[in-house]
Amino acid sequence: MNIKVINDFIKNIFKGQDFIPLHAPTFGGNEKKYLNNCIDSTFVSSVGEYVDSFERKIEEFTKSKHAIVCVNGTNSLHIALLLAGVKNDDEVITQPLTFIATTNAIVYANATPVFVDVDKDTMGLSPIALKNFLENNCFIKDSSCFNKITNRRIKACMPMHTFGHACRIEEIITICKEYHIEVVEDAAEAMGSFYKGKHLGTYSKISAISFNGNKVMTTGGGGVILTNESEIAKQAKHLTTQAKIPHKWEYNHDEIGYNYRMPNLNAALGLAQLEQLPEFLKKKRTLTAKYIPFFKDQGISFFNEREEEECNFWLNAVILDNKEDRDLFLTETNSNSVMTRPIWTLMNKLPMFKNSPKGDLTNSEWLEERVVNIPSSVV
Ligand SMILES: *Cc1c(COP(=O)(O)O)cnc(C)c1O
Repeated sequence: MNIKVINDFIKNIFKGQDFIPLHAPTFGGNEKKYLNNCIDSTFVSSVGEYVDSFERKIEEFTKSKHAIVCVNGTNSLHIALLLAGVKNDDEVITQPLTFIATTNAIVYANATPVFVDVDKDTMGLSPIALKNFLENNCFIKDSSCFNKITNRRIKACMPMHTFGHACRIEEIITICKEYHIEVVEDAAEAMGSFYKGKHLGTYSKISAISFNGNKVMTTGGGGVILTNESEIAKQAKHLTTQAKIPHKWEYNHDEIGYNYRMPNLNAALGLAQLEQLPEFLKKKRTLTAKYIPFFKDQGISFFNEREEEECNFWLNAVILDNKEDRDLFLTETNSNSVMTRPIWTLMNKLPMFKNSPKGDLTNSEWLEERVVNIPSSVV
């Protein structure tokens, strides 16, 4: 591994930048115009034309029947879990190799995360590990799945599409159906990613995407719930707007709701970003096309897309041979103004989740020691 050659290559791609971040947002379209319109209209908060038009444009882009925008991706996932029927003391299966928000959303829904291994080639939940876990640890009673050891109901499964790469979502949905488990895709990182021509997050009945500042496109802070079912969409809007019963002047609320609706200012920014998304995706693909042959020459493996996948290449990732190489790579890039980051610490190792149920996590542990994200901004 010739780290100088790697640093020079990356610096040459992002020419003219003193510090090269992992992922910086790009604002080159109607952002300022829409934001000014928003301020001029005085509709800066959660009622306004941009909130609605942004939702309709997300529906068009993803081909999801309904899109309900929220303050961020984490609370979009929270509501998605509630609408999947997750109740207090349920368990939700997820992968240990994910960003903390996935697991936190499960806890916000008063459920316990259960960690099942990922596939090495997708870095997403493994259908084989999932089937093994369910066969060995669970039983079905009255059309519900229960964990044999904890006796808690396993109500949902939340696989995550790592760095915008599709996990084996079709197989996961088939297995979960057999066990009466609802699937909620954490498509937070997958705006603009497709598998077999279908946008990620539209495979499960309900899912969520994030528009945080470091994602493919941003609303500042924001997220969206996707669903094809109009009853779930109605519920999502209701829950994210304080569960207020629509009325011309009266304040009535029929359940505990949340103040989770995206403000107009954020939606204005999002609309301008979405208009440029196809261009962003094209440029990200061009960047990845430069990285692939370069890292091949360096003898370093690169996390590429699988067949039938059209990845957004949100964050490009390399897989080093071992932890020592990974640490050397991290040290030498970061000390030379090239920002790189290791993949997340496994969730089961965090103090809050050390007692959570889990299966065999061999692949997750293998990836945890080797995967590094490299600069991936639109250039
Ligand atoms: C970004 C992200 C989220 C949460 O999104 P926020 O908008 O930052 O709340 C959830 N899950 C994953 C995997 C993410 O990467």
